[in-house]
Amino acid sequence: MLLSTRSHRPVPEDSLAALNRVLGDKAPGLALRARGTELDFAANVGLHQKIALSAVALLTTPRDLGRLKLCPGDRCAWLFLDESRNGRRRWCAMETCGNRAKARRHYARYGLKAQ
Ligand SMILES: [Zn+2]
Repeated sequence: MLLSTRSHRPVPEDSLAALNRVLGDKAPGLALRARGTELDFAANVGLHQKIALSAVALLTTPRDLGRLKLCPGDRCAWLFLDESRNGRRRWCAMETCGNRAKARRHYARYGLKAQ
């Protein structure tokens, strides 16, 4: 899902058609489809277009923008959306950056040399 309406009513077809006309003028081939109250990419939309539109949707949604974080992991520049309940997620992925940081702290604590 790319966007969700605040209404409980499905996205009107004429509104979707108007939106797709504007999108098509600015970015040929770009189109959205409605699924009830949600908008998603049409099947023929390319990866770069999906990324660009997802970024626009994220950057224009203040609630989500406040949850956008930059992973502090070494040599990691991933951005991620903190969807944790308490909003305290720190790493892009615990399995990679989080575990590396834990291992580094462990080695430092016991004066061991990191592998
Ligand atoms: Zn990371």
